[in-house]
Amino acid sequence: PYAGPAADEILAKRREYLSPSILHMYKNPVNIVEGKKQYLFDENGRRYVDAFGGIATVCCGHCHPDVVEAIVNQTTKLQHSTVLYLNHAIADFAQALASKLPGDLKVVFFTNSGTEANELAILMARMYTGCHDIISLRNAYHGNAAGTMGATAQSIWKFNVVQSGIHHAVNPDPYRGIFGSDGEKYARDVQDIINFGTSGHVAAFMSEAIQGVGGIVELAPGYLPAVYNTIKKAGGLFIADEVQAGFGRTGSHFWGFESHNVVPDIVTMAKGIGNGFPLGAVVTTPEIAEVLTHRNYFNTFGGNPVSTAAGLAVLKVIEKEQLQKNALEVGTYLKERLTSLKDKYELIGDVRGRGLILGVELVTDRELKIPAKEETLHVMDQMKELGVLIGKGGYYGNVFRITPPLCFTKEDADFVVDAMDLTLSRM
Ligand code: PMP
Repeated sequence: PYAGPAADEILAKRREYLSPSILHMYKNPVNIVEGKKQYLFDENGRRYVDAFGGIATVCCGHCHPDVVEAIVNQTTKLQHSTVLYLNHAIADFAQALASKLPGDLKVVFFTNSGTEANELAILMARMYTGCHDIISLRNAYHGNAAGTMGATAQSIWKFNVVQSGIHHAVNPDPYRGIFGSDGEKYARDVQDIINFGTSGHVAAFMSEAIQGVGGIVELAPGYLPAVYNTIKKAGGLFIADEVQAGFGRTGSHFWGFESHNVVPDIVTMAKGIGNGFPLGAVVTTPEIAEVLTHRNYFNTFGGNPVSTAAGLAVLKVIEKEQLQKNALEVGTYLKERLTSLKDKYELIGDVRGRGLILGVELVTDRELKIPAKEETLHVMDQMKELGVLIGKGGYYGNVFRITPPLCFTKEDADFVVDAMDLTLSRM
């Protein structure tokens, strides 16, 4: 039994001692004290199906024994800075990670977070091309430091950051975008930005394959290949942010960009890479990596022995338990079931995503696509009462994000959809 402080005591401490900007989900937030696989347990031992943990980093399932063992073993041997001496953990993981990437993407830099990974990617692209201009998508989320907050394009995540050299292209959003699913039409905006807003040369185009924070938006088909050509002609690099879509989550491929038939110049990752352990990475080609030899790039804990031991264990679990295949099977089933709810409830405007990165957008009017913000919060709260935790996102906060650990089962999927169905039927 749990002997720690109760939820209200923790909440009171948070209010007094923690930053007022930290968020918690739900009107009555849950006090989660344990996690196992795709389940979380509160202070009373009540079980919740975790349909959102994937985004908060977990891909193998909470506290996976192999990952825990790797962390514990390495912690008892050595935890130190990455850079001062030789240690095998960072080299072993870099080799294993590089083997998962196509083409010449073979050189790995480790960081502690996705923000840091994207900052480093932007820096390298600028150094390599000698240009400053970066193009990212409206509705993107890439992090919250100076460069990445600029690249992030949703006002709710932005402070008065200096948007130096950042341009935001029209989002190729098949549901809300002006050109529907015509990727090539959206891609023309990138050419326009280059023509009207730059010297004609740019450092990089940066994008997720499926926008996570933005509300599980799949980029319109044909968009990325078209932009890729445009960017190459302008001398720029293509940075793929795989922080949410990577590590087998989309089911069909290990990396999100692979379903768009493009090979990026730089790939960034975080979250799922460490199954909950703070870890991020940037993978690029030897030629691009060379730019960081002009000065010292130093990151005290990026790639430290414990986080890289965790990362290697995660890759092994994904393979051993065939989690990508599971994401495809269970994700396809879950999406079908969610789509059938759309036929039943007018409130559901769109169901989208692939594998185990799925979105359900609620609208009060299907024709006008008016965001159903209140209803979204209400359904989430009610589903929590029924023992299901899902996420929320999108610029209007009206999209459910369903991104469970990749070990999710069809029974879990049924439980999630049944809870959503029951909640919607009561409204
Ligand atoms: N890129 C994407 C696509 C993300 O979703 C996030 C985090 N939500 C980040 C980058 C930043 O990662 P971190 O929070 O680890 O800095």
